[in-house]
Amino acid sequence: MQIDTNFDAGNIIVEDITDQTAVLSIRPDSNAKFYQWFYFRVIGTPGVTRTLRIANAGSASYPSAWPGYEALASHSEHDWFRVPTRYDGTNLIIEHQAAEKTTSYAFFVPYSAERRERFLKECEASPLVGRQQIGMTLQGRPLDLLVVGGGNQASKIVWIVARQHAGEPMAEWCMEGLIRRLLDPGEDVAQQLINKATLYLVPNMNPDGSTGGNLRANAAGVDLNRAWNDPQQNAPEVVVVRQLIGETGVDFFLDVHGDEERPFIWLVGPHPTNVTPESDRAQQAFERMLAEQYVELQPRPETSPAPSRPDSGMSVDYVAANFHCPALIIELPFKATTGASGQRDSLLASGCMNFGRSCLEALNTLM
Ligand code: ZN
Repeated sequence: MQIDTNFDAGNIIVEDITDQTAVLSIRPDSNAKFYQWFYFRVIGTPGVTRTLRIANAGSASYPSAWPGYEALASHSEHDWFRVPTRYDGTNLIIEHQAAEKTTSYAFFVPYSAERRERFLKECEASPLVGRQQIGMTLQGRPLDLLVVGGGNQASKIVWIVARQHAGEPMAEWCMEGLIRRLLDPGEDVAQQLINKATLYLVPNMNPDGSTGGNLRANAAGVDLNRAWNDPQQNAPEVVVVRQLIGETGVDFFLDVHGDEERPFIWLVGPHPTNVTPESDRAQQAFERMLAEQYVELQPRPETSPAPSRPDSGMSVDYVAANFHCPALIIELPFKATTGASGQRDSLLASGCMNFGRSCLEALNTLM
């Protein structure tokens, strides 16, 4: 059995391989202690059960994410499926009889830099969109912004950012679905929204961390979604987006994430002291519209920590406090979900894309 990670978003350290058993560990984020994201490729004998034991799982950033979690695997990098996975309190153990010689395993369906570039090029070809490279990351990757709409009557400003946390690729799947619908001339809802609003879209806030196989941090080890109050030079991604939001203003703000622990979608608002009654009504209406369509959307869990502080450094707190507009985090799950029609794993890549499409409808209603 051979294991490698030398590709976009790859992350695993091979501690030992004996016959059909590999002992692995997840590499912490660049310059930070966070870790949970894994993505590696195994070349081995098909038809024989292999055991892949991630020995440092118990000390990962969210150890409570492992019970009930099943890893994803693929022979094609295109179609991903769950594989038998268990957690013994210390080790995350994948036992899989691969049907083919080469199999990739990941924490969630990866969204690659290559796909992002191909998709952004596709967007560029649309007359509806302007693509701007608004800045550079610490490792010299461009930070891309898409601007859609802004016709004569457009008066509202919508900002949507995604994947501040690198190891949450569901956020970028969601963005792709949302943007594809927005640019589809056959979609009435998109046309209506574009006539009312200008949309500023950042599909990936953290390209360095994404390519580096990080869970949360950028290249300097900064958790971008704690840096909005005082972004330093080691968070240029937030500096530039914050500056642009200051220039354009904002009437509705969304920040798309992934949640390691809960097998459902949930929305997080800013600290209550940052929320105006009007924003609160709009946030609740947005949530209600999506909950009507998605059995997978549940109320914010009671057990989750109370919103930390009004000046948490999270994007939603910064935006709500400074612009007094609705601001929501969308948390999409890593764990398997069941859709309305009983469909298992309803929120893998295509499910997340569909959810992004639905967000557009709710936004259109509220503009
Ligand atoms: Zn996140």
